[in-house]
Amino acid sequence: MSSFDTSKLTVVGAGSVGTALAYAAQIRGSASTIALYDVNEQKVEAEVLDLSHGSQFMLASQIIGGANMEVTAGSDVVVITAGAKQQPGQTRLDLAAKNVSILEGMLPKLVEYSPEAIYILVTNPVDVLTFAATQIVDLPAGRIFGSGTVLDSSRLRWLVGRTIGVSVRSVHSMMIGEHGDSEFAMWSSATIGQIPLREWTGDDGEQVFTPELLDSIEDEVINAAYRIIEGKGATNYAIGISGARIVEAVIGDQKSILPVSTVGSSADPAIALSVPSLVGRSGVIRPLDMALDDAEQAKLDHSIATLRESIASVGYQP
Ligand code: NAD
Repeated sequence: MSSFDTSKLTVVGAGSVGTALAYAAQIRGSASTIALYDVNEQKVEAEVLDLSHGSQFMLASQIIGGANMEVTAGSDVVVITAGAKQQPGQTRLDLAAKNVSILEGMLPKLVEYSPEAIYILVTNPVDVLTFAATQIVDLPAGRIFGSGTVLDSSRLRWLVGRTIGVSVRSVHSMMIGEHGDSEFAMWSSATIGQIPLREWTGDDGEQVFTPELLDSIEDEVINAAYRIIEGKGATNYAIGISGARIVEAVIGDQKSILPVSTVGSSADPAIALSVPSLVGRSGVIRPLDMALDDAEQAKLDHSIATLRESIASVGYQP
């Protein structure tokens, strides 16, 4: 029997991100049972019904859910998307404090219901929440991590592939650091196929990815969420499928390398930030060491300083 046959995924939060993640996981068959949990009973029950009605066409065998945390019991993976959204006039740091407080109330109880689960944070600011989670409950290293820059890296690869008309699957590069304004692209090690990205030439034999173009692609990734939120109020589909992809790496023990947000990396072991990490059934098996050029190292240092400040601002000490 494969791990999928008995796997249970819980998605905490039935808002736009949680439901998109559950929907993606259901379609892709990321787990055999998906539980959706939210404090808003009416909303979560309606979402579970709506998702259930597509069961005939889905790969996951069943979707359950409700406002009683008991529905989460015995999960293999718990993805946390619950939290407050930024309100007009509210700063990011106010939001961080509010979401950390929700996490403090919820996480110990979730761990009681699913003591063996891997916990994946999606709620923002995801690196701060991931770090806080490692302080709130005492789980082995790697069992708690954040979705980090998996979504941002997918955005990056899509933009690069679209620029030259090559499949996104043949573009190999990652955004790393904070899931936020100080994140950056690892251009120095990026490849298209096996060709170094900076050496990629067009039909005219000229270098395509000039420093200016690389800066503008990186900027577009960093500002993607702002643009989408302005147009539709939230980002949800791409984070939903990115989350499902991470869940599959865990449930399927895929040993995939993903830029998830993790504590214990050599970049700064005391905080959570995204670095390429080996992900399998035990969660983050190992954050990997990276070869960065001087400019990237300076950006990493800036991202670390930003995150250290954010963590301290919500009352935790790295
Ligand atoms: P939303 O407001 O639509 O949904 C949040 C849900 O959380 C609501 O249904 C609410 O009832 C629920 N909730 C609040 N407190 C709860 C609790 N104590 N227990 C259970 N449920 C609770 O918000 P959204 O658009 O789904 O976004 C959710 C989070 O995901 C936000 O913090 C957002 O910034 C973040 N996000 C992260 C990424 C990423 O890449 N990490 C991408 C997009 C969004």
